[in-house]
Amino acid sequence: MNIALIAHDEKKQEIIHFATAYKHILEKHELFATGTTGKKISEASGLDVFRFQSGPVGGDQQIGAKIAQDEMDMVIFFRDPLTAQPHEPDVSALLRICDVHRIPLATNLASAEIFIRGLERGDFEWREIIKEKLAKKD
Ligand code: PGA
Repeated sequence: MNIALIAHDEKKQEIIHFATAYKHILEKHELFATGTTGKKISEASGLDVFRFQSGPVGGDQQIGAKIAQDEMDMVIFFRDPLTAQPHEPDVSALLRICDVHRIPLATNLASAEIFIRGLERGDFEWREIIKEKLAKKD
């Protein structure tokens, strides 16, 4: 599965701890992230993470584009709800495009932990089945 990881600045430590704690599960998947989040996660955990631009300069939109092309299966986005973000329109657009394409989206640690346990159990394998079906239609 292709998984996007994003965290606003106040949540960076939280996503680093999360990725490190669940490295044994995350390392079985293709990981993508916005620039700074990806750098910090790979430095701290050793996970291999493809890095897009930093969020405020287009990274959120790049992840949104992957979703629009059905190339992202899950988004874990630790938002900071208490700090104004200069790229708020991009953040809203990313949340919206997840809903448009029914992409599982966790916006805080509590829901991300449920997702990760689901990942371990194979609860998201329906995503692979749908993609295989779509590929056969082409
Ligand atoms: P960053 O972007 O990982 O480059 O800090 C995250 C964001 O603010 O969207």
